[in-house]
Amino acid sequence: MIDHEKIEQAVRLLLEGIGEDVSREGLKDTPERIARMYEEIYGGMEEDAGTHLAKTFSVDSSEMVIERDITFYSTCEHHLLPFYGKAHIAYIPDGKVVGLSKLARTVEVFARRLQLQEQLTGQIADALMEHMQPKGALVMIEAEHMCMTMRGIKKPGSQTVTLARRGVFEEDPALEERFFRMLGR
Ligand code: ZN
Repeated sequence: MIDHEKIEQAVRLLLEGIGEDVSREGLKDTPERIARMYEEIYGGMEEDAGTHLAKTFSVDSSEMVIERDITFYSTCEHHLLPFYGKAHIAYIPDGKVVGLSKLARTVEVFARRLQLQEQLTGQIADALMEHMQPKGALVMIEAEHMCMTMRGIKKPGSQTVTLARRGVFEEDPALEERFFRMLGR
């Protein structure tokens, strides 16, 4: 549950901490504005991926399904700065598929929290396995981290790539190769 009062107090302290005048015109409404924004960017904490993945459709095929280039925005839990990029999801159905928009919704549920990219990748793969029971799932995320590009080593455009394999993707490297081929890599 987002506690607006606590966030507003904290933002005021933070502004004072960097030497700002919290009463000046431009900052007057900033604490409240940030509290409202947090409702949205951390809204995933109160959501369950199961609500999006519960509605499945029966299929005969067990051909690989790929949803690529799912844009997402998340927040790094080490620096509270954004990291953002694309998620690519593949799964091999075992009699059940979900509507394609549900995969993007699942990414959102986990992205709208404080995160680490490795953890985000794994949580999406685990949610697919738990709620859809496919034969296997693979999630790949390519992201740029503001904590690497606007501070520290400053390497704009550098991408961090993470991969999570579950089920048959762990056993059969040919499936992963097919995924990369279909992705055009
Ligand atoms: Zn960071």
